[in-house]
Amino acid sequence: MTQKVSVLIIEDEKSIRDFMVKTLTSHEYKVSSAATGKEGLAMMTSALPDVVLLDLGLPDIDGIDVIKKTREWSSLPIIVISARTQEKEKVTALDAGADDYITKPFGTFELLARIRTAIRHNNKIANDQVNAIRPYSAGDLVVDFDKRLVLLKGEEIHLTRVEYKIVSMLAQNSGKVITYSTLIEQVWGPYADDNNRILRVNMANIRRKIEENPGEPKYIFTELGIGYRMLEDENLA
Ligand code: CA
Repeated sequence: MTQKVSVLIIEDEKSIRDFMVKTLTSHEYKVSSAATGKEGLAMMTSALPDVVLLDLGLPDIDGIDVIKKTREWSSLPIIVISARTQEKEKVTALDAGADDYITKPFGTFELLARIRTAIRHNNKIANDQVNAIRPYSAGDLVVDFDKRLVLLKGEEIHLTRVEYKIVSMLAQNSGKVITYSTLIEQVWGPYADDNNRILRVNMANIRRKIEENPGEPKYIFTELGIGYRMLEDENLA
């Protein structure tokens, strides 16, 4: 018998919490829930969930602090539930160690998709530490990390070193949003100027090379004010 995937929901708004508990339970998840940050943190250590859904606006402690406290001891996937439209909140949560976010109001499909992506990504990290990293593949695009090759319809695409770093970072995290500052730090290092301009210039060049219509990208999407998200690897679907 396989173990059910367990989800911990930390959300003070009862109607939203009830909706998520009901939806996830009916989709074969094992669900536990908490209405405060403190209760949530305690349940994380006792229940060891596979994934956490975390509201940022909690009555006792700020959701951002819940993320920071969790990251002191665990890398378990955290998906932030945000009612706030401010991109800044989401960026802060992602940079504090959240894996992804979902904005209220959201539907069943979006909720399930976000959870699947977070869990798959976490499993992939664990597997890749044992196996070599498998190539990324989606639509006509392949990124071969071993050979450092990007192929579109079987043809090699010539990318600069910087462009390749950006694409491979996004491909290794496919399906997940990566913030501008995380990308800049990964590509140019921790002391790089936190300025998006050079990243945007590189992204425009990448899109010209890999997208049929750079204005309507199929592979690398912009999350306005937050970062980029690459189409999910088909091997993971
Ligand atoms: Ca709330």
